[in-house]
Amino acid sequence: MPSPLIPVKDPLWADQDIELWIKRDDLIHPVVSGNKYRKLAFLMPEFEDNRYQGIVSFGGPHSNHIHALAWVCHHHNIPLVVLVRSSHEYPDSPTLRDVRQWGAVVEVLSPTQYRLKDTEEYLNHLEKKYPGYLMIPEGGSHPKAPVGFEKMIREVEMCLPDPDLYICPVGTGATLAGIVRFKAPRQYVIGVSSLKSSSFYQEIKRKWSLDQYPRWTLAEQWHFGGYGKMTKTLLDFLGRFEQDHGVLLDPVYNGKAMFAFHEYVRFHLIPPGSKVVFLHTGGVQGWRGVNY
Ligand SMILES: *Cc1c(COP(=O)(O)O)cnc(C)c1O
Repeated sequence: MPSPLIPVKDPLWADQDIELWIKRDDLIHPVVSGNKYRKLAFLMPEFEDNRYQGIVSFGGPHSNHIHALAWVCHHHNIPLVVLVRSSHEYPDSPTLRDVRQWGAVVEVLSPTQYRLKDTEEYLNHLEKKYPGYLMIPEGGSHPKAPVGFEKMIREVEMCLPDPDLYICPVGTGATLAGIVRFKAPRQYVIGVSSLKSSSFYQEIKRKWSLDQYPRWTLAEQWHFGGYGKMTKTLLDFLGRFEQDHGVLLDPVYNGKAMFAFHEYVRFHLIPPGSKVVFLHTGGVQGWRGVNY
């Protein structure tokens, strides 16, 4: 079993007869973000079936996806090129130091170049420069990324046969899409958006073809100002949560999702008697980017 499912008790929800279980995908690896690892489950079969020569991918200087991908490529001896958006005119970061150490080639793109990375012209250029390489989009949101979450759901069911509700953080929506596709029809899913966007629900629904699946929603009001933004309220909450329950949450994704869960409980929005599974997607290495 790659990660445990642990019960977390607190009078706030126990008083409403709600059970909270945390699926600790943060424990899959000390530095590689758990959901990025799940999202790469399709990769090895895909890579071998198509006899790719290597992989090209994209991300910011603290990207959990790049970090996980570099680690996986290192272990499978796959050549990796990462195109990184420069920030503050300075491309180095603890994440990129790991990535280089694991043997990836890091190329830095200016913010303008980075914005053009999805244009046909640029992709053609990359195909010429790296023939036979597999391209993986930013955040690891390859169309096959959601399939990796079937295994996560099966692991949960082995410990807790029929949960009522799943909660997870949302960036590109691949994780949410995976849970929505592989949960039982009666189960509900709340994805908590870590970024600010007015059309995000529609975007995610279209991107991952989630129209046909019932009982999921995107909570869009807990982004704390936008992607990577955090407030004292959020940071204090994370400190208290770690003290009370011994679980460290990252401030970019899981902290916001757990805050949302607390608010749902406080406002009596979760039916009494519910068994809730919170997917801790990892990303605790992202704290290194906060103080940096
Ligand atoms: C990337 C990431 C997410 C977002 O996952 P998506 O599948 O892109 O929605 C959530 N949590 C952590 C820790 C991540 O690194």
